[in-house]
Amino acid sequence: MPSTLSLVELMESANLPTIPVVAVQIIGLVQREDLDIDLLAETIMRDPSLSARVLKTANSGFYGRPRSVTKIRDAVMVLGLRSVKTLALGFSLVGAMRHAEKGEKKGFDHRDIWQRSLLAAAGARTVAGRAGFACSDEAFLGGLLHLIGVVALERTLGDQYHWYWEAAEGDLTRLRAIEREALGFDHAEAGAALAEKWNLPEALVTAIRMFPTPDDADGDYRDLVRCVATAESAADLTLGSDPAGALTRFRWDCHQLFGIGDEASDALITTIIEDAGVLGSMLDVPDPGISADAVLARAQEALLQITLESERENAQLLAERNRLTLEASTDALTGLANRRHLEEYLGEHFRISSRYGTPLSVIIFDIDFFKKVNDTYGHLAGDEVLRQVAATLAQTVREADLCARYGGEEFVVVLPATPGEGAEDVAERARVAVEAAVITTGGATLRVTVSAGVNSYRKDGQASPDWLLKEADMALYDAKRAGRNRVHRFEEAPASPWSLAS
Ligand code: GH3
Ligand code: MG
Ligand code: MG
Repeated sequence: MPSTLSLVELMESANLPTIPVVAVQIIGLVQREDLDIDLLAETIMRDPSLSARVLKTANSGFYGRPRSVTKIRDAVMVLGLRSVKTLALGFSLVGAMRHAEKGEKKGFDHRDIWQRSLLAAAGARTVAGRAGFACSDEAFLGGLLHLIGVVALERTLGDQYHWYWEAAEGDLTRLRAIEREALGFDHAEAGAALAEKWNLPEALVTAIRMFPTPDDADGDYRDLVRCVATAESAADLTLGSDPAGALTRFRWDCHQLFGIGDEASDALITTIIEDAGVLGSMLDVPDPGISADAVLARAQEALLQITLESERENAQLLAERNRLTLEASTDALTGLANRRHLEEYLGEHFRISSRYGTPLSVIIFDIDFFKKVNDTYGHLAGDEVLRQVAATLAQTVREADLCARYGGEEFVVVLPATPGEGAEDVAERARVAVEAAVITTGGATLRVTVSAGVNSYRKDGQASPDWLLKEADMALYDAKRAGRNRVHRFEEAPASPWSLAS
């Protein structure tokens, strides 16, 4: 057994499935302009098992209402030349390939391949019909034969291929990747090469080659390939390892091809599974043994699960982002806005005020004699004082005002749309509240006071937000000098008489 083989070698392998005589004849007939009913019926009748299958199908519900025909010629009459030709060709090819199967192999299940093929055949025909494409016969055959490359590779490579199959775990996309890695080509290419070797029509060769990437198909055959690809999703949904993914692809394809919604797409799945069951009884392929309802329920459930998971994941990501944003803008000790956040906020409101002339004020608070608190009660107690003063300040200001820790034992409040008098009132209220607050720190009870400097935006008065703060700080300095525990407003120094004179 070769460890690797080229596509050319594969096509020359003696183990490759051969095309049955009757199929060759039917293909010959198809190409003739003067194909007549009698000639086709005669050809089919030469193969008794094929005849039986065609008749059985004609009498089943696969082509609509169940009929009652006993002769191939009648079947051709009621089903039409094209449909019978398609059925006969498909059945003879599949029949021949199935006949040569050497029983069950560990890890490889021929039934799975044929069940997928029947689902794809029924699906591609349904989808083409629904989309109003003229290619429903080719679509049927394309679906039926889209995995002949898998059959060819399995027969040629034996156990080696069974390993690939097992490694793919029911995911045919993964199987193709494994094949390409190991062999340099995949089962879609191998199937197309085999179809070419068998002289199957070009449309069919293209469907088998391109179904994994329908958008790359040539314009003439793109509709056909899309039908097979869509049907392949229906097969994957029924038998594959990722029903949710397959359902999503199937719904999307249906939406693209004929603009139907999820519910209508899902209803098509039921039709496809039922049709595949009929085909299976014609070709002695056992039913997968799961009802259409169960298949759909499993896929819908899996999809719902994934949707919920991704929603949960999104919520988690959002919460995490909010947490990080909050952390980056919050002072760890007091929970107030940090300096970075303060600068951003103040910058933004300074710009608004410069543009529209709206009022804007700031207050700087500084705890009086804070060094003494640290020295007397310890640094930890000092931290607790900072936390409680911060809480008192935060409670006193309005919601729209930003209360930030500026550094050490200094706090800044930004008051948008607030003129100086208003800010002075706020500062005074806060000063009184801090003075009144009894602070408990691990046993000790103490009180502190704050001094405050207030400043307001003046049109053309300050060049930058920093200036606004600098002037507030000057006012604070005045408050400290005047005895602490008080609020001072920044006042412009009166213009110098000398400058007036000049
Ligand atoms: P004044 O009334 O003039 O403001 O006197 P003050 O003692 O508050 O003066 P100053 O501003 O010089 O001292 C501030 C002190 O705050 C100095 C520093 O040890 C202390 N401090 C700064 N940050 C922290 C902190 O995070 N935790 C504690 N416990 N103390 C801090
Ligand atoms: Mg200070
Ligand atoms: Mg201080």
